[in-house]
Amino acid sequence: KYTGAPIEEAVKTRKQHLFPSTHGFAYYKKPIMIHQGHMQWLWDSTGKRYLDLFGGIVTVSVGHSHPRVVEAARQQMDKLWHTTVIYMYPTLHEYIEKLMKKMPGNLKVVYLVNSGSEANDLAMLLARLHSGCYDIIGLRSGYHGTSPNLMGLTALSSWHYNIPTGFGIHQTMNPDPYRGIWGGNKCRDSPCQTDRGCDCASAKSCAASDRYIGELEEVLRYSCPKGRVGGMFAESIQGVGGTIQFPKTFMQRAFKIIRDHGGVCISDEVQTGFGRTGEHFWGFEGHSVIPDIVTMAKGIGNGFPMAAVVTTPEIAQKLAAATHFNTFGGNPLACAIGSAVLDVVEEEGLQEHCAKLGTYFITELGKLREQYEIVGDVRGKGLMIGLEMVTTKDSKTPLPAASMAQIWETTKDLGLLVGKGGYYGNVFRIKPPMCITKDDVDYAIHVLRIAIENFLKQQPKA
Ligand code: PMP
Repeated sequence: KYTGAPIEEAVKTRKQHLFPSTHGFAYYKKPIMIHQGHMQWLWDSTGKRYLDLFGGIVTVSVGHSHPRVVEAARQQMDKLWHTTVIYMYPTLHEYIEKLMKKMPGNLKVVYLVNSGSEANDLAMLLARLHSGCYDIIGLRSGYHGTSPNLMGLTALSSWHYNIPTGFGIHQTMNPDPYRGIWGGNKCRDSPCQTDRGCDCASAKSCAASDRYIGELEEVLRYSCPKGRVGGMFAESIQGVGGTIQFPKTFMQRAFKIIRDHGGVCISDEVQTGFGRTGEHFWGFEGHSVIPDIVTMAKGIGNGFPMAAVVTTPEIAQKLAAATHFNTFGGNPLACAIGSAVLDVVEEEGLQEHCAKLGTYFITELGKLREQYEIVGDVRGKGLMIGLEMVTTKDSKTPLPAASMAQIWETTKDLGLLVGKGGYYGNVFRIKPPMCITKDDVDYAIHVLRIAIENFLKQQPKA
């Protein structure tokens, strides 16, 4: 039972004392006070239960307060909460051993840090030290964090301030199969077998991919030639950008070009890692690439603040020239939690579950796309799903913010929490704790259908 302050008081405190940018985006019209979580469920201060399809922005991987993770944390807290990596302690090496079993190729050296932004900052430093070059390539609509270093790499203007950002950062065109100019639902001139064009199963490559790669080559040629390329960052599927999957072969070819220019390839797995995409443990495996640096956060600790950078011994060596240190990175509590998360993913077969349930979810959402003109696109992999809302399928005009908010509010009132994102803010983002069931999916589809119907009923007749 909830015994805390009334929600009105919390709203007042937030408005007076919490940083102002949370006032807008964090709010439903009628805000909710969450005070308890269990697996895929959250409860608010009135006792109302919600199915959480956003997992605190993909942060809760195996389930809110998963008993196994809670127990691991409790046991560790009883013994030792904190000491730094300058000492030996068993949870650290046990965790590192487990994490290493999940890393392909020569990705053998780990830096434990505390957040996704910190991980990407460090990855940027490593790339620059290793290549001896400063410039970094990113993709439009990519999100990698909000530190001053990363603000320019996060290529979404809504996260930018009016200060110089992104010295030496070059953005190349986003290979977006839905909105990108060279890859709509049907690839214009590749022999596609599927209606997703660029996801073509049979073509060796696809025309859209060729053109986006051409665009990357142009950026390198005109803005950042050989001898200046430090590296390239890419999410394996863009998260905040609106669940954007790249055309087949794009990543493979982009990585090759960057390496040919002397740069380092960095996969940001902050949202896509730990089995969420179903098919693979890491999103980059879906692109058949092995990066030089991988960054991970969010799901790594099932909501506990921890993150990591994994790289090759050769790259890591460059940071050994001076002391590098992180007070909280890899503390015993974080390691115990991270270790329990890896065990749960394995023992509960969550990766396979994501593949199976994700396919079912995407298929069911596809029926909404067929039924409703305002559902423009359904995409994703495993339990990393996006639903792009438009005014009409032909125009692809993004559904306006007020309309999105209306649908969003109804889903919340009916006990379903989904995220929002995309460059135009018109993509519903579905990235639940990986333990959701088929019944949950059916419930979610039911609620989304009601929310869409309600919205449509309130529209003036044409
Ligand atoms: N990379 C990606 C792909 C992310 O989605 C985020 C967070 N939304 C970050 C990096 C930054 O993580 P953090 O908020 O922990 O700094």
